[in-house]
Formats: sequence, C-alpha cells, structure tokens
Amino acid sequence: MFFVLRKKDLIVFLCGILFIGLSWSTFHIAAHPNMESWLKEKIVISQFPTDKKIVVLTYDDGPDPRFTPLVLDILKKHHAHASFFILGKRAENHPEIVKRISKEGHEIANHSYSHADFNRINKAAMLQEIQTTNRIIHFITGKKPLWFRPPGGFLSYQLVEICRKENLTIAYWTYQQDSKDWRPGVGAQQIANHIIKRIKPGQIIILHDGAPNGMQTAQATDILLDDLEKQSYRCVTMSELMALANKE
Ligand SMILES: [Zn+2]
Repeated sequence: MFFVLRKKDLIVFLCGILFIGLSWSTFHIAAHPNMESWLKEKIVISQFPTDKKIVVLTYDDGPDPRFTPLVLDILKKHHAHASFFILGKRAENHPEIVKRISKEGHEIANHSYSHADFNRINKAAMLQEIQTTNRIIHFITGKKPLWFRPPGGFLSYQLVEICRKENLTIAYWTYQQDSKDWRPGVGAQQIANHIIKRIKPGQIIILHDGAPNGMQTAQATDILLDDLEKQSYRCVTMSELMALANKE
C-alpha cells in the first residue's frame, strides 16, 4: 500500500457507501423490481408520453367533507379537471361529495376500501378491497372506475394480476412530483413550489384531499393553478390525458 487510510477517512467512506446503498434500496422498494416491465406493458402508468403542456392532478384518500369541497371549488374557479382516488369506506359515508366530484367533470378512481396495508394482507383481502370499492363507485356515480392506485404505492405481482383481471390500470405518480403534501406542517406555498419547479408535460401529480393537512393542499391547488395558467398548462383527468397521448 502506498497510502495509509486514516480512521476518519475510512468512516466517511463507509458512511458514503451505506448512504448510497440505502438510497438505492429505498428507491427499489418504492418502485418494485419489476416496475420497468410493468411500465412498458402499460399496466402501471407513472407519466404520459406527450409534448403538449398537459398534466394530471390526482387527489388521494378522500372524500373528506372538510377539504374535498374546497378543492372542487378551486378546480371549478380555474376550469381544471382532476382525478380523485377515493376510499370506498369514505365514499359510503359521503356519497353526496362523490356525486359532486363526478358531476363536475372529474374522474373517480379506486384507492381501496379502507387504505389497508397491501404489504400485509393476502390476495383475497386485496381483491375484496378493490371489488367492494368498484361496486360503491359504480352504485353512486353509475360509472365503473378505470384506475387503481395502491395505498402507499405498494405494488406486488399479486396486485398487478388482480388489476389485470378487474380491467384496472394502476395509476402511479411521476416520481419527481411527490410533494409530500400530506405531511403535517407542510405549507401551501411549499407544496405549490415543489410542483411548479419540476413541472413537465405528461406528469401525474400526487396530492391528498383526504389527509389532515388537506387545507394546505387545497390552498396549494389555487397557487399551483394560477401559475400553471400563466405557463399555459392544462389540467385534465387520467383518462383524458391517456386518450390524448395515444392519439399522438
Ligand atoms: Zn393513500
């Protein structure tokens, strides 16, 4: 050896390796090892291929009587449409909000019945969470949902198989567009800035109207839509953007 590693250097070096390792594994846990082939097959969608200035705003975990109506008022003010990934259990308690979402031209999609941890439940329970919510949405709106978003973004081979059989496409979100708006203490301006800084055509932006921080999410929507209008961006539903992207 022509050089001597000092103890301090060695610790810095090992911490570096550990950090890279952890970041890599976190990314892979979030994305699942088979993610790439599911994206190719288009059973999972995380972004739409388009050059047009169009994006999708998605709202998870509602309907929530405190925040969903606010988000709907703001979308209406800006003539924007969005996709709402709702929970079956909450939809049963607030069918009037679900009806309003649908009536105002937004899309309603399935986000499971109880926000169960899909990492811990078996295939039969997954199927029940998904089918029950599909039935509730159909009963309230007369429409069958086309999209499913797994709680926490958890993907598995079993889940993908169920979605294929149920004719649901898995709506992921664009990796860069997760502002963590649901975290208590995250402010509206901070959420909007995160999204505006990274905005690109075809992105799927994840937000939460059903989390305790929903007031900030609603206000962030107003700030965000003001800015997107200035940049001539349009917000449409998942299905609308898919139809547009397929035409290109
Ligand atoms: Zn959720």
